[in-house]
Amino acid sequence: MTTNSITPLYDYDVAVIGAGPAGMTAAIRTRWVKSYKSVPCSTVLFDRAGLGGLAKWRSCMLTGPSFHLMGKDVVARFKQDIDDLEIPLIASRVVKVALEGTVKTIVTESGDSIRALAVIIATGFRSLCNEQEYLKNIAITYMGYEFFEELLNNLFTMKGKQTVLIVGNEFTRNLVDLIEICNQGRQTVLYLIDAHAEKPLWPAPPGTVLQGKIVRYEGKESLEGVKVVLRGGEESFIACQKVLLDYNSYELAPLYEFDAGALKKDGRGFIMVDREMRTNIPGVYAAGDVTGLYATVGRAIGDGIVAGFSAYKDIFRRKFNHEPCLFAYAAQDIKITPGFKDLPRPSLNLRPKLLVSAERAARYLDEYATKTSRKLNSIKDMLNSCAGIDTLQEHLNKSSLEEQHLLDAIEFLLEKKAVALHL
Ligand SMILES: Cc1cc2nc3c(=O)[nH]c(=O)nc-3n(C[C@H](O)[C@H](O)[C@H](O)COP(=O)(O)OP(=O)(O)OC[C@H]3O[C@@H](n4cnc5c(N)ncnc54)[C@H](O)[C@@H]3O)c2cc1C
Repeated sequence: MTTNSITPLYDYDVAVIGAGPAGMTAAIRTRWVKSYKSVPCSTVLFDRAGLGGLAKWRSCMLTGPSFHLMGKDVVARFKQDIDDLEIPLIASRVVKVALEGTVKTIVTESGDSIRALAVIIATGFRSLCNEQEYLKNIAITYMGYEFFEELLNNLFTMKGKQTVLIVGNEFTRNLVDLIEICNQGRQTVLYLIDAHAEKPLWPAPPGTVLQGKIVRYEGKESLEGVKVVLRGGEESFIACQKVLLDYNSYELAPLYEFDAGALKKDGRGFIMVDREMRTNIPGVYAAGDVTGLYATVGRAIGDGIVAGFSAYKDIFRRKFNHEPCLFAYAAQDIKITPGFKDLPRPSLNLRPKLLVSAERAARYLDEYATKTSRKLNSIKDMLNSCAGIDTLQEHLNKSSLEEQHLLDAIEFLLEKKAVALHL
């Protein structure tokens, strides 16, 4: 068994950007491949808004009326596994990625710089922010345009003269006539369209169409306005009492807040992937809404699972030079003899990294000690310094451990999904 000795040191096997349903499932599947033997990846999640993504909004219809769950319940299920597996979440916006090369680098707004062998991009659509705090004042077109006229009539029959901000993109031009007909000049209408959209094609008085994106909804009891970043980067405040979010236009715009330039995209900017969610860059995968239609939780979960397995498979091959035994794997021409093991014996060039708390790992080792009647103090000491830096050989050199003893204990911890082996 050989390992790639020229791979520079890195922090995690897999970095997942975005913790909506696609990112959460991708992360879980790289850490928990199956209930029996596997070699877990070390995995880190990034999300500027915590766990859940758009799925934590209201309820999710998964396949039809009989499969209708509350978004928060769906997210809670994934959170349970993320917590149990101790998958770290870096709660910050990813602002820069270097995707080329063997080791990728991910940089966040708060200054973290993380190196990983694989990156799974699951950043979804154009961003929402704190809309949920002002749902009384925000109308959303997610039910399609047949309901649009009714939505507008409700908006424009407010008492007194108020300002309604319509948020969309270049296709919002198709809504303008109906907006004007329904409003009949009763309320002040402003438009905020995507910073990257074409210049608006409809005639509008100067100042009524701005280009940029909302970063925060503000107001004490009810909405008083929105903080926006205008095209060009300047911050501004738009006073308004109601917002109409043309959510359908969100479905036309994937979200990157970093330069994803080298990734192959389709005509609308969605990341192109193959059936295994691989992109054109080796070691980079994408899942969920960021890869295009159809924008649903079920698909995002499926994509995340596939992306997670693909990353696992590619990393496993690099570490062990053969295919992992995933589900229903193709029959291989291997003679099965007594004592046959599914997991490869780790090479001493691999670098153990502890994935769970030291206390939990110590508990597992006690379990192992009881099973094997071996003394484990020296392994417990060693475990605390398992950060994916020293190789197994270096750990052996620094201690009085026997090789067989160490490898057996590592194998036990692998089964518990408590340790990863870095290149
Ligand atoms: C109001 C509403 C109702 C819906 N109803 C349904 C429904 O009934 N049934 C259904 O199946 N689907 C529904 N959907 C759609 C569904 O929620 C999405 O398709 C699904 O959540 C997509 O999952 P995702 O993981 O791809 O992306 P998201 O859920 O969008 O998650 C992406 C995550 O990436 C994070 N992110 C983005 N950029 C960065 C960055 N640079 N750095 C760090 N983090 C970043 C975001 O904060 C976000 O948490 C609805 C959506 C909405 C808004």
